[in-house]
Amino acid sequence: MPFSYERARQELTQEQSKLRQQLARLEAAEYESIGYGNHIADDGTEAFEQAVGVALQRKIETTLEQVERALNKLGDGTYGLCEACGARIDRARLEALPHARHCLACQSRTERKGARVVSH
Ligand SMILES: [Zn+2]
Repeated sequence: MPFSYERARQELTQEQSKLRQQLARLEAAEYESIGYGNHIADDGTEAFEQAVGVALQRKIETTLEQVERALNKLGDGTYGLCEACGARIDRARLEALPHARHCLACQSRTERKGARVVSH
């Protein structure tokens, strides 16, 4: 069976709405804590919870960005191509991670260096 772009699109769209819901929930929780939480939680706990919330929010935002980027690429026909070297990304990798931006070789090179691959 050939790689299904339709399936990738469905998964990415589902992922996108899931991530948006998570973000909306986080933002709602933050909004509620303003003015209400101060007298209940002690400052240390609250600061910690805020830090965790912010880190989680950043992570979700980054993933959402990658998911939307992948959806754009599905639209312009460059989906499944490595952003660094232009090679076709392994099908199994795309099925496991539909928003993958790099082929395995480039990805492991990035992780080794601990730096971002500069796309051109
Ligand atoms: Zn590559």
